[in-house]
Amino acid sequence: MLIIPEALIAELVSPEDAFAAVEATFAAMARGEAYNFPVVREALGEGRQYGFKSGLDRAGGQLGVKAGGYFPGNAARGLINHQSSVLLFDPETGQPRAMVGGNLLTALRTAAAAAISVDRLARRDVRVLGMLGAGHQSVFQLRAVARVRQFDRVIAWNLHPEMLDRLRLAAGELGLPFEAVPLARMVEAGVIVTITSSPAASLMAADVAPGTHLACMGTDTRGKQEVEPALLARATVFADEVAQSVTIGEAQHAAAAGLIAEADIVPIGAVLTGAHPGRRSAEEITLFDGTGVGLQDLAVAAVALRRAEERGLGLSVEV
Ligand code: NAD
Repeated sequence: MLIIPEALIAELVSPEDAFAAVEATFAAMARGEAYNFPVVREALGEGRQYGFKSGLDRAGGQLGVKAGGYFPGNAARGLINHQSSVLLFDPETGQPRAMVGGNLLTALRTAAAAAISVDRLARRDVRVLGMLGAGHQSVFQLRAVARVRQFDRVIAWNLHPEMLDRLRLAAGELGLPFEAVPLARMVEAGVIVTITSSPAASLMAADVAPGTHLACMGTDTRGKQEVEPALLARATVFADEVAQSVTIGEAQHAAAAGLIAEADIVPIGAVLTGAHPGRRSAEEITLFDGTGVGLQDLAVAAVALRRAEERGLGLSVEV
């Protein structure tokens, strides 16, 4: 098997590669060629979370698992809070093919999912990008979403305003004016990305204008929440995977309150295959609930493996 360390990922997988790989995966899921296995997620105490996301993509020939979690004490040690590794197996024999550093891959595949949703569901004429959250993932989100629409400016809110500088810098690198705003100003945005670890709703339905597209990316565990459930009742809701959306995603709260039903949520893959038309009017609010599926991780890890093999990189070991 090939060991591909974290330090090699940046030269093996680009944001464009992640976009293409995740798009193909969501479409394969919609066609029934790929499926995710149930997520395991356990609390380790002191705020630490650990779990496994896995799946099988028959069409893409991928079988594997991402093991990883959230370790809130890491930042103080100079490490990022999310730590993960991806294991790829041969789907015919079960033999291990690769162990791939999963930290950058997670950021790339998560940002790609948000960007795919913006690409397919946001109005063409959006000019203002709104960001909620300024943690590690936020910069990847901003850059990926800015690739698929022509924004004039970025507005952002974060519970901890001192963290917003990294977004200001990223927006500046893209030549986009940046402003830190109160939540009520999100009504100016045509696209809103939420990427926080909030345990309660920050963004209220009244803060969102008709016609907005939201990519809600932060809620990936039971008990997290970024937006008011009434917003999901008002929106057309899309998800990477509906089963995860109603259990660990943003839709868990609206579903539990009976405001939306599982059957109301559209898999984003159905938009990619043309089975669902996506946005139907300029006034419609569209909301993508990106919970993060194991198949996304396998898709980008498979790109890393292919490139590493082509270039003779990584450490080959007998198992
Ligand atoms: P981080 O720890 O670097 O940043 C956390 C962010 O949440 C910061 O903006 C912080 O200010 C904010 N925050 C913390 N407590 C809050 C509260 N009580 N109310 C509002 N905001 C609060 O984390 P990160 O790596 O940027 O990840 C952000 C979120 O995205 C996490 O919840 C993470 O689990 C999730 N995530 C989701 C996916 C996916 O596929 N959907 C993938 C990776 C990460």
